[in-house]
Amino acid sequence: MADKKYDVAIIGAGFSGPILAAKIAEHGVNSRNGERLTIALLDAGPYFPGTHRAGYGSPLRRRVFTNLEDGYERNYEWDDPYLAKMVGGSSLHWGAVAILPTPADYLHWQKETGVDWTEENLRAGVAEIRREFNIHPFPEQINTRGNRLFFEVAKQMGYNPYRGETARRNCIYCGYCMDRMMCKYDSRSSTLGHYLPTAEKFGVEIIPETYVEKINIEARAGRGIARSLACRTGGSNYEIQADKIIVCAGFTNTPLLLMRSGYGPREWRGNPILVENANIGKHIDGQPPTPGVSGWFDEPLGDGDLGSVGGYTMIHDSRPDAEGRLRLNASFGTAQLPSQAAMSPFAPAYGRAHKQFMREKGILRAGNIGLLVTKPSGRWQIGPDGKLVYGGDHRLTLQRFQEGREMARGILEKMGARKIVGMDTPVNLTPQTRGQHRVGSCRAGVDPKTSVVNLHFESHDVDNLLIGDASVIPRVNSGNSGTPQASVTVFAAGRIIERHFKR
Ligand SMILES: Cc1cc2nc3c(=O)[nH]c(=O)nc-3n(C[C@H](O)[C@H](O)[C@H](O)COP(=O)(O)OP(=O)(O)OC[C@H]3O[C@@H](n4cnc5c(N)ncnc54)[C@H](O)[C@@H]3O)c2cc1C
Ligand code: SF4
Repeated sequence: MADKKYDVAIIGAGFSGPILAAKIAEHGVNSRNGERLTIALLDAGPYFPGTHRAGYGSPLRRRVFTNLEDGYERNYEWDDPYLAKMVGGSSLHWGAVAILPTPADYLHWQKETGVDWTEENLRAGVAEIRREFNIHPFPEQINTRGNRLFFEVAKQMGYNPYRGETARRNCIYCGYCMDRMMCKYDSRSSTLGHYLPTAEKFGVEIIPETYVEKINIEARAGRGIARSLACRTGGSNYEIQADKIIVCAGFTNTPLLLMRSGYGPREWRGNPILVENANIGKHIDGQPPTPGVSGWFDEPLGDGDLGSVGGYTMIHDSRPDAEGRLRLNASFGTAQLPSQAAMSPFAPAYGRAHKQFMREKGILRAGNIGLLVTKPSGRWQIGPDGKLVYGGDHRLTLQRFQEGREMARGILEKMGARKIVGMDTPVNLTPQTRGQHRVGSCRAGVDPKTSVVNLHFESHDVDNLLIGDASVIPRVNSGNSGTPQASVTVFAAGRIIERHFKR
């Protein structure tokens, strides 16, 4: 492929890249001549275009009804450079659980690095994502008996459970998208259906199957200027020049790309560092999960004709500053994929009893209260050799897990569970720990000594380089990270247009 030149090159077409591409293409102009911008949106994965009618899917996309492999946490290790290998990225295999930022999240963001991400400033971004992604509560008709029982009991015990929200259109609640599978009908809202069509309409060139190996940074006296991208497609290499380069490669791939490009912490043991910023790949905040606590009941808790129904969520704080915040996710009487049902802790060992369990849908008598510490005390970071390490003082996290388990057991007992499991499962905070809601690896902030980009999403150290994905968020939010991060990206687009793409 021949070398090319654009006004803007955006790396990564997952959740954030398409939002930025669409908004900059629609509302921005070349500040020198007022003309439409030339924008390239690059992604390492393939692109399956078509008219994405939610609930129908596009013919091409339907043929690739893919899922992430079991044990997908492998993707968080550094030998696999992709998370979701498609244009649309994580917005295609996400669970479409939509928990927009809470008041504590706005305060934590501001407190951490001084960003001005107030509820007021993000209001328009949140409203846009709610509208575009059709965020609404899971319908009551598809609730289960077990979930309702959980709600009543938890309420009686003084807790505050609420029905979760989801981002879907024309969903038939068949449940096939459980366990990280993509929806064959494109009912789950994604950037493939919502922002990429706008991006294309306003002239963005989508360049799939192109892996950006490096950003070419010219270094001078400790600062840098981003000039171009070293790209690989198939067996060939080529270069893309751009006046502005915006990185949206996700919370792991963004810092790794910067470090490969010679921009990062001095102790990095890969390519030589030309421009130093000690915060790249550090301060990664996420939600270390435990398997939760499960109960087994005498009677079925649901009739099993619907899957993916979404239960109740409960946020619990033990401190006024919301550190160590717990989220409990209740799911009772929900049908499960046979592969999951067979591995239930309540399924008898293989043999006649196991077959009986499967035939009689024994799984419908089980329920789970999942546990997440959404404001953990420890953090991850990318070490000098590129491996993820968890560190810091995580005593509060472990204490809160234990308290969460006790709460879950108390609720299950009151609900009448005959058998309860999961109280003793070891909590594993090692680098391999799953937990997809990770942010902060190139966090935004006012002080260049403690952050990577400024309040306008521009690198503190490298001119013409901006970042707009999950890696800029200074602290993880209370719910899943996708829709809060998308709201921040809408806000980022406004700021970037204002500073760079206005006449
Ligand atoms: C299994 C799973 C389930 C989730 N479920 C939910 C949920 O239910 N609700 C919720 O709110 N959030 C959920 N999330 C979180 C949410 O998906 C993420 O917060 C969000 O997708 C992050 O968006 P991003 O743009 O930062 O990264 P991504 O969406 O991961 O996009 C990064 C893109 O960059 C591309 N890329 C990376 N490196 C390069 C490179 N060098 N060159 C070219 N392209 C590159 C990748 O191919 C990818 O398309 C889930 C995440 C996972 C993994
Ligand atoms: S339950 Fe999942 S797979 Fe089924 S239509 Fe809804 S989003 Fe798609």
